[in-house]
Amino acid sequence: MSKRIVILGAAESGVGAAALAKVKGFDVFVSDMGKIKDHYKEILAQYDVEWEEGKHTEELIMNADEVIKSPGIPEEAPMVVKLKQAGKPIISEIEFAGRYTNAKMVCITGSNGKTTTTTLIYTIFKNAGYNVGLAGNIGRSLALQIAEGKEFDYYVIELSSFQLDNMYEFRANIAILMNITPDHLDRYGNCMQNYTDSKMRIIQNQTEEDAFIYWAEDPIIKEELKKYDIKSMKCPFSIVGKDAMTGYIQDGEYVIEQPTKFQMKQSELALSGKHNMYNQLAAGIAAHLCGIGDDALKATLCNFEGVEHRLQKVANINGIQYINDSKATNVDACWYALDSMTTPTILIIGGKDKGNDYNAIKELVKEKCAGLVYLGADNTKLHNFFDGMGIEVADTHSMKECVEECKRMAKPGYTVLLSPCCASFDLFKNMEDRGEQFCEYVKEG
Ligand code: ADP
Repeated sequence: MSKRIVILGAAESGVGAAALAKVKGFDVFVSDMGKIKDHYKEILAQYDVEWEEGKHTEELIMNADEVIKSPGIPEEAPMVVKLKQAGKPIISEIEFAGRYTNAKMVCITGSNGKTTTTTLIYTIFKNAGYNVGLAGNIGRSLALQIAEGKEFDYYVIELSSFQLDNMYEFRANIAILMNITPDHLDRYGNCMQNYTDSKMRIIQNQTEEDAFIYWAEDPIIKEELKKYDIKSMKCPFSIVGKDAMTGYIQDGEYVIEQPTKFQMKQSELALSGKHNMYNQLAAGIAAHLCGIGDDALKATLCNFEGVEHRLQKVANINGIQYINDSKATNVDACWYALDSMTTPTILIIGGKDKGNDYNAIKELVKEKCAGLVYLGADNTKLHNFFDGMGIEVADTHSMKECVEECKRMAKPGYTVLLSPCCASFDLFKNMEDRGEQFCEYVKEG
């Protein structure tokens, strides 16, 4: 009898895993507590996979030999707890898919900067003519691409902590760790160390042939490095020092030291802002390690257009600059956005709070903000923290209302910045919906 694989959660990763498991000849069953989207039902039908929705039928799940869990399902979900108690191995889609490809894996994690860095690396590789795929938290499921028989030399994979949590044997040939700052603590028992441990899994299984690229000044990463016997080649980057760095910025020059020296003017880099220097250093080191030539690397670093909803300039209306940073779903991302502001700022903040500590942005808010517009189903925590700082505040519960308040508060020369520190699910479908609604109401005049 063939091994039974049960997949919990039927969205991008789950459906991809089901397709691959089927192609590999397993007995496959997919179970989703919610409703499965039609598009995914079509894929399940195409691969002849059995599924259920709106429930988890125990008899069909507990007989699994191995379970693939969607990263969206928390560890405390009753079905997951039961499976764990029964000693069933639970893995992530990336772990599963990794067994069936020989492509070199370039994997990016961190609290912030993952999507920007992943997209930049993929674009550099693609523009250089490499045979490269994009997967993970971004784009299409890795498993589905492998099920479809795609043969790539490289995969560039964005990994969230939730994906890393259920990865055990997977090996990243190039592991990139951008930073570790508090995020998703609600899913980690409010324990920063649990979340940190999860991020550090990016280097597990690395060998001497692999590379580990990381931000050298991150205080948490620095501490963590002491605990691990890292076998891979260490490639730190920095924007303040160059000693022992593989990549750095100094005297207006962007420099990568290894394997050969690459240098260009910082002013020629397409992305600006301190955080993007980190992203561009990490991407450049990865590209250089994979043999991308100097001209090809420089061409994309100079012309990369950035990714939507990340400090995206929306419009300048009546002398007021509107910026969409809807992707800033934690406090650290907002810190970098505020840090890069050069004019008085009306900050839109709020949404689904994941256990935020706003102290990290308190000083920057005082320094940069002329107004705060709260945008959430429940703004109480924001009122308690920011009211009384001598900055005008407004309380709103829809994007329409929010943009109206911003327009009322802002004067010519100001910037209106949507960088909300929170997830969007209380009022919006997702962060894209939040960003798009912002753009729409801003442009309505
Ligand atoms: P992620 O995929 O990790 O969420 P993104 O590239 O989508 O990262 O960026 C998320 C948010 O973080 C955006 O608001 C962006 O402006 C900000 N950001 C991007 N890169 C960094 C970085 N290296 N450090 C801190 N913040 C960053």
